[in-house]
Amino acid sequence: MDQSSFASKFISRIQRIDTPRIESFLTQLVKEKDFLRIVIDSLQEGIFVLDDAHRVVFANETIKSLLGLHARKVLGEPVARLLRAKALLGLYEEFRDHHASIEQREIRVRTPQPRIYAVSAMPIEDHSGEMTHSVWIVIDQTETHRRAAERHQAESVRSLATLVAGIAHEIKNPLNSLNIHAQLISSAARDFSRQSGGSDPSLERLETSTRVLLDEIQRLARIVDQFIKAARPTRVDLRPSQVNEVLEAVADLLRPECIERRIDLVLDLDPELPRARTDPEQLQQAVLNIAKNALEAIDKPEGRIIFRSALKSDHLLVEIEDNGCGIAEDDSLRIFEPYHTTKFNGTGLGLMVVFRIVKAHGGEIGLDSQVGEGTTFKIALPLDERPIRLIEMGAVPGDLEPSEIIEWGGPEAPEPLE
Ligand code: ADP
Ligand code: MG
Repeated sequence: MDQSSFASKFISRIQRIDTPRIESFLTQLVKEKDFLRIVIDSLQEGIFVLDDAHRVVFANETIKSLLGLHARKVLGEPVARLLRAKALLGLYEEFRDHHASIEQREIRVRTPQPRIYAVSAMPIEDHSGEMTHSVWIVIDQTETHRRAAERHQAESVRSLATLVAGIAHEIKNPLNSLNIHAQLISSAARDFSRQSGGSDPSLERLETSTRVLLDEIQRLARIVDQFIKAARPTRVDLRPSQVNEVLEAVADLLRPECIERRIDLVLDLDPELPRARTDPEQLQQAVLNIAKNALEAIDKPEGRIIFRSALKSDHLLVEIEDNGCGIAEDDSLRIFEPYHTTKFNGTGLGLMVVFRIVKAHGGEIGLDSQVGEGTTFKIALPLDERPIRLIEMGAVPGDLEPSEIIEWGGPEAPEPLE
C-alpha cells in the first residue's frame, strides 16, 4: 500500500485510533518531511514553488544562496520582490503573462555575482486546467561554461600548433631550394671573380649579397625548425640512465664554440651519481637549450659556463650556471612562456620546450639570477617514479599547467650547433 492511500485511510479512521498510534504516525511523518527537506536543500538545483499569485510557498537552500536571499524573509513574499537580476525578472514576467513552460533558458546575471543560470519554470494545474502553483528550477551553469570555454581554447591552441607545424614544413622545401640556388650563385660569382682577376667591384657586391642571403636563409631555417619541434608532442621514454653522460654530450657539442669565444666550460659532476629514470635524448635537448641561452647571454671576455650534477635526498640536481647578462626579476617569471624572447633573433620557444621536458620527467625547474652577474638554471629530477614534492629554488614557472606540458611538443633530436 502506498503512503498516500495509507494516510487517507488513517485519517478516515482517526476517531477510532488510540493516541499513542497517532503520535507515532505523526512523528514518522515529521521525520520523513525533515529527511525530504534535507535532500531537497542539498540539491544543486535551486527550487522555488510559487502559488497562483506568484508568492513563494517553498524555497530550498540552494535557491536562497543563488539569489542572495539568506538574510531575507522569503516565504509568502511575491517573487517579483525577491528577484534582483533583470534577466530573471524578465523571465518571471514572461511566465506571469503566458503561463507557458520555460525550459532551461540560459541567462546571465550580475547580482549577487556574475553567473550563468539555466532557468526552467513549469505551471502546475488542477483538473480544471487552472494554474494553482508553479515550480521554478535554477541551475548554476557558470562552471560548466568555464570548462567548455577552456576546452575550446585548448582545442584552438592545438589546431593552431598543427597549422603552424604544417606551414613550417611547407616553408622548408622552398627554403632548401633557395639555399641551393644561393650557393650556386655564390660559387658562380667566385668563379667569375677568379676569371676577372678579382678586381670587379660589381662581382664583389654580388658575393656580399649572396653571403647575406645565405645567412638569412640559415636563420629562417633555424626558426622554422624550432617551430616544428615546439609543435610536436613531447613523449618521453624514461629508462635508467646516467645524467652525467648527457651533460658530457652537451659539453662536447658546445666545446668548439666555447674554445672559439674563449669561454671556460667547466664540468663539476658527481662521480657517484646514481642512474635515474630519464629520457637521455630529451634531457640532452633541454640542457642544450639552456646552455645555448647561456652562450648567448655571455657578453664579457672572461665567460664561464659550469655544468653541475649532485645527488640530493630524493632527487638529482642538475645546474647550468653562466656569468652572462642575467635575467631581470620581471622577466624571470615569463621566460618559460612560449614566444617570450628578449633577443632580436629569438623565438622564445627554447625554454618552453625545456619546461615541458622537465615536467614530463616528473621534475622541477627553477633559476637564480642576478642582472649583470649571471644565471643558474636548476633542474631537479626524481630518483624513481615519484614526482618531486619540494625543491629549494628561486623563481619557478607558475603559469603552465601540467596538462599543457604533456600534450605539447618537444624536440626529437638535439638541434645541431653550427
Ligand atoms: P630565445 O632564446 O629564443 O629568446 P628561450 O625560450 O630560449 O628563447 O629564452 C627566453 C628568454 O629568456 C631569452 O630571450 C632571454 O631573455 C632569457 N634567458 C634565458 N636564458 C638566459 C640566460 N642564461 N641568461 C640571460 N637571459 C636568459
Ligand atoms: Mg633560447
